[in-house]
Amino acid sequence: MNYRCAHRWAFSSWGGVLERQTADLAAPVGHEVTVRVTHCGMCHSDLHVQAGGFDMGGGKLSSLERAGARLPLTLGHEIGGEVAEIGPEVQGFSVGDKVVVYPWIGCGACPVCERGDDHLCPRASNTLGIQKPGGYADVVHVPHARYLVPIGTLDPARAATFACAGITAFGAIRKLAPLADDDVIAIIGCGGVGMTAVALASATTKARVVAIDPDPAKREAALRFGAAQAFDPGAPEAPKVIHKASAFNIAAVVDFVGSETSSALAVNLVRRTGQIVIVGLFGGEFRMPLPMFALRSLQISGSYVSGLNDLRELVALAQRVALPEIPLDLRPMAQVNEALLDLAQGRVVGRVVLQA
Ligand SMILES: [Zn+2]
Ligand SMILES: [Zn+2]
Repeated sequence: MNYRCAHRWAFSSWGGVLERQTADLAAPVGHEVTVRVTHCGMCHSDLHVQAGGFDMGGGKLSSLERAGARLPLTLGHEIGGEVAEIGPEVQGFSVGDKVVVYPWIGCGACPVCERGDDHLCPRASNTLGIQKPGGYADVVHVPHARYLVPIGTLDPARAATFACAGITAFGAIRKLAPLADDDVIAIIGCGGVGMTAVALASATTKARVVAIDPDPAKREAALRFGAAQAFDPGAPEAPKVIHKASAFNIAAVVDFVGSETSSALAVNLVRRTGQIVIVGLFGGEFRMPLPMFALRSLQISGSYVSGLNDLRELVALAQRVALPEIPLDLRPMAQVNEALLDLAQGRVVGRVVLQA
């Protein structure tokens, strides 16, 4: 294989379809690495990136161009593969090592990046699959070997999904205050990330997990991945039913949709002194009467992907204990456009992973 020439699935206009393009790839220098992609997970935010921005509410769209994204853009930030070439200063990795790539790369030089929180870097974002070419390609350039996490004997398709779905779910669940076994965690939205959170919350906390999703197939899957109960948010009097079934003791709501309806449901469900964590990027505006913050002593926070150390810890956790596994929908890379359409139309259960 010639690593100087990369084949990439990229779009050349915002909202446009992805086309197979070729690009020159320089040999890695210093600490750089070239990874041969074997698997790349597909994420809901790929749809927002393809559209050019996120819905900020009130008819406003965030601009990815202002955030440094440039056309043609190669999507894909859940990258799993094998080390293909290493720069002369790379230590601890050899050609052929199986790895998952941490894609949320910052400037690499500030204190935030140095402590492993690249995803929160205030200076520059160099995310693979947004500002830099991502994993819908045969090879990916990684600017430093520290962004590689060896996966050992883990299934490479599953380990690839840890880079976004996995750490997003892991990071959000880790933000929750300690929970007792009569506490309830409600998880709104059981797509790939929400379903991972159902599995991780069931495996790592004492609380009872309830799953909320309009799709009966996703509710059924959530029950298999550890949810005690699952509810349809569109059913008549759904909040009332969920409150009753949870004995009015929902200590935490994690919203993996992030829409006006889902966040309103979260506010409705959470008990006094409870916690709401908003993760989903569907878009719109959050509204709540101001006195509620005080009267109900709520904690409302957001969670955006997670740090490099969380990816390392999640890989280690998966190697140590058998985590409940969300369904993977493996498809050839060449079917990327069909897969994006299926994702946009809600026809995917679990996570799509494209295979090279
Ligand atoms: Zn993602
Ligand atoms: Zn930085």
